[in-house]
Amino acid sequence: MTQVENKPTTSDTPFVPMEKIVALCKRRGFVYPNSEIYDGVAGIYDFGPLGVELRNNIRRYWWWWMVQMNDNVVGIEGAIITHPRVWEASGHVENFVDRLVDCKNCKRRFRIDHLPAENVIQNKCPECGGELTEPRTFNLLMETYLGVVEGERMKTYLRGEACQNIFLDFVNVVKSSRVQIPFGICQIGKAFRNEVTPGNFLFRQREFEQWDLQFFVHPSEMQQWFDYWKEKRFEWYKGLINHKDRLHFREHGPDELAHYAKQAFDIEYKTILGWQEWEGIHWRQDWDLSRHSEYSHKDLSYTDQNTRERYIPWIVETSGGVDRTFLYLLLDAYEEEPDPAGKESRTVLRLHPVIAPVKVAVLPLQKNKEELVTTARDVYKKLQRLMVAQYDDVANIGRRYRRQDEIGTPYCVTIDFQTLDDRTVTVRERDHMTQVRISIDELPMYLLERVTWQ
Ligand code: ATP
Repeated sequence: MTQVENKPTTSDTPFVPMEKIVALCKRRGFVYPNSEIYDGVAGIYDFGPLGVELRNNIRRYWWWWMVQMNDNVVGIEGAIITHPRVWEASGHVENFVDRLVDCKNCKRRFRIDHLPAENVIQNKCPECGGELTEPRTFNLLMETYLGVVEGERMKTYLRGEACQNIFLDFVNVVKSSRVQIPFGICQIGKAFRNEVTPGNFLFRQREFEQWDLQFFVHPSEMQQWFDYWKEKRFEWYKGLINHKDRLHFREHGPDELAHYAKQAFDIEYKTILGWQEWEGIHWRQDWDLSRHSEYSHKDLSYTDQNTRERYIPWIVETSGGVDRTFLYLLLDAYEEEPDPAGKESRTVLRLHPVIAPVKVAVLPLQKNKEELVTTARDVYKKLQRLMVAQYDDVANIGRRYRRQDEIGTPYCVTIDFQTLDDRTVTVRERDHMTQVRISIDELPMYLLERVTWQ
């Protein structure tokens, strides 16, 4: 499988403060606080014109890499609402809880599992040293009701994790497609959690999106597929970031492992928030299908076509977040650098070209020269059919380059007076600010080779 090319690494740069990303996202239309005119809702966000392009690109690239390029992986899209028994079988009704303590002095609230051990032992606030309250337990599932008649309404939940649909559809997928074990089912979808400590912008939200692979294997092949997907997922993230040294695996300790899990790893990325999870690689054994068999009284076993062996498949799970990817890629890409021409510094988003929201900007050198404008609009119209393009003739050319750098546009095409003579244009590359001159006829292929995955 072809991996996209990596950009130059800039790992010596300091961590980007979260406020810079929040401000850029609002200013340039990536992310807005949800219901802002009503003072917002904590942990819920909307995505603006550039944000939706970036999100779509991230999702499409994941889907291409996981589903389209793997013969033994298929996709589904399940509903957000499922039968309530699903969440009993999955253990969420009973166990999907956060334990919280409040500081009696400064009134701050903490999740016990996020507190340093010494603060838990001494019952002491990590911020002000005040005394902490007794822990209280909260379930994270968001309740909702189906039906309109009071007394006949059924209580259920917005899904707390997207992957449950994959287990529910396992038998349907086996029966309706030609998959045979080992094979995987992928899904990207929204999940909802009543997080008691939402925060750090998109890092911990109440409505967010997850991507999952559940890979079904014969128990004898579990280890090899676990190792395979662990490495594959790491490779995928590494291919998209500049700061390669800020990505690592963290193996779960024995006290963190579920009773059925032999191993688990988090792929973690380091930001201003420290090392934090990006995606989890989990050894789920036969837990999910066995539980759903038990609770639904349906047979979810698999019969091998060749050996006729019947068994409950074991599962390797890779589970990550679209929003966390969105945030980490912005934190990874953001840079403020001095202008070599000695004028103002420039803010540049060094996003990988395959996920950059706008691929190319077309800029006539001057907007009051009709021939320049006509040619530029013509070039723009041609490119717009192939990729997300912007046309910009407002302000001087340096200003326009800066505007595009700030949103991560990898290429700017300038139409100047030479274009009118020989039908060539200048293509300026974002990261190194190098310029090449190429003919208008060659331009689409030149750009497509650089901004699409293959
Ligand atoms: P944590 O321990 O941080 O609460 P988790 O281990 O419960 O996370 P999972 O249930 O394994 O997380 O979810 C898979 C992925 O979904 C995470 O790796 C993360 O990328 C993303 N994710 C989980 N919770 C949130 C959230 N509240 N907001 C945004 N993304 C999330």
